[in-house]
Amino acid sequence: MAEEKRGVSRRDALTAMGAWSAAAAMAGDAEAAGQDQGKAGRAVAAKAAAGTHDEFLRELAALVNSTPMVDTHEHLPEEDVRLRGEWVPCDDWGVLFSHYLNSDLIAAGMPDEELARLLSREVEPAGKWKILAPYWPAVKNTGFARATRIAIRELYGIDELNVQTVRRLQAGYESLRKPGLYRRVLTEVGGIESCQVDGFGPYRESRQPQLMMQDMNVNGLHIGPDVENLAGPTGISVGELADWHTVIRWWFDKYGRYATAIKSPAAYGRGLDYQKVEAEQVEDVFRRVLEEGQVSAEERKRLGDHLFWYVVEQAVKHNLPVKLHTGYYYGNGYMPLERVAGNPAQAAGLCRLGPDVQWVFMHIAYPYWHDLLAVAKHYRNAHIDMCWAWIIDPVASTQFLKSHLVTAPANKVFVFGGDYIPVECIVGHARMARKGVTRALGELVDEDYISRSDALGLVEPLLRGNAHELYNLKVKSERLRGAPWA
Ligand SMILES: [Zn+2]
Repeated sequence: MAEEKRGVSRRDALTAMGAWSAAAAMAGDAEAAGQDQGKAGRAVAAKAAAGTHDEFLRELAALVNSTPMVDTHEHLPEEDVRLRGEWVPCDDWGVLFSHYLNSDLIAAGMPDEELARLLSREVEPAGKWKILAPYWPAVKNTGFARATRIAIRELYGIDELNVQTVRRLQAGYESLRKPGLYRRVLTEVGGIESCQVDGFGPYRESRQPQLMMQDMNVNGLHIGPDVENLAGPTGISVGELADWHTVIRWWFDKYGRYATAIKSPAAYGRGLDYQKVEAEQVEDVFRRVLEEGQVSAEERKRLGDHLFWYVVEQAVKHNLPVKLHTGYYYGNGYMPLERVAGNPAQAAGLCRLGPDVQWVFMHIAYPYWHDLLAVAKHYRNAHIDMCWAWIIDPVASTQFLKSHLVTAPANKVFVFGGDYIPVECIVGHARMARKGVTRALGELVDEDYISRSDALGLVEPLLRGNAHELYNLKVKSERLRGAPWA
């Protein structure tokens, strides 16, 4: 891993991070971090402008590694839930392979039964290496594996995974997996000031509200819809479409002021071709859905279209950006690539149909990122989130960021979201993102597209400033500090 050595080591990074950013990040005081960051950035810029290219690259890396990062997308359970061993298939080092490396193992040919043993609670942790070993050479260099390997190195001090080190890995896993896990991993090691969590439901009252900020996952409000689970907490009895509208408004009225954004993963099941459909056109369809009567696919789509725009209207009313899954599908064996390929063009359609909506297209619509870049360049209300991207394809992600910065405005991109359930792997993904940002900026300078001082000046907005701006994080953080459940 020669390339690791050339960069700034974790020790150097933490030294460079210094008391100011660590303290500010710990306290959740983003404003102070930003101001100090600005001063530090200007001092570094003056120094770097005069030195050799290598000196500049070292300064750039130090600045990237010392800047707290806003993490715009995770699927973390609450810490106490994770510590009880829930949301994860097993509770040993196999967890680090359960999300997302399991998908690459299957693609590499590992039979389902073998994967089930690797992630089993019944198999002895030390014995699991034998299950992994035959497939390890095939997957160890994918982005999914790289994030896991970096996490193993940074959290447990293990450089190479093998039959000898696997016991040490298990011991390290157990000693870290204690109360305080999230602060330790996210804040202290990852340098992350706050996350935006999609907890797979309309909203979660987090016990760590400022670190674990929450998006409203609106899937069940517009797909299905999930009347059984989502009407319950509201106490509203649903017989008509108008009642369901009331349920939707209830969720937004209760949590809209605390949420960072709304998120819809519905592109896993349909295209983004949401047409504007009036309520009268789907009242009858809604009634039949409730009664579990005959509903055609076309009618179901129309109801989904109507509810999508109803939800989006609520998001606009509450000043919430709308995050949409685009591109690559999690897992194996079911992705219709022709539908995925249509995501960028349909995203452009949404920008036209909803000109007052702040759209955030997630995962760079991988592998159709060129097309999505055209959308962000053209439409004022289109943003691109690189969440998940660095581990899907690290090379393309570097290329994407380079292209974005010389094609579309720099305030339209968010460079990091781990997209993980197991918190440990976020450390690996965050390191890959920081390296990727450093590499992209360094190469743009080397290729004479941008100046050294512009490269240094972009670090803060890319890692945190853009997210603060669009998601209004200072205000949200203050509201969350005073939330009834805080
Ligand atoms: Zn996700």
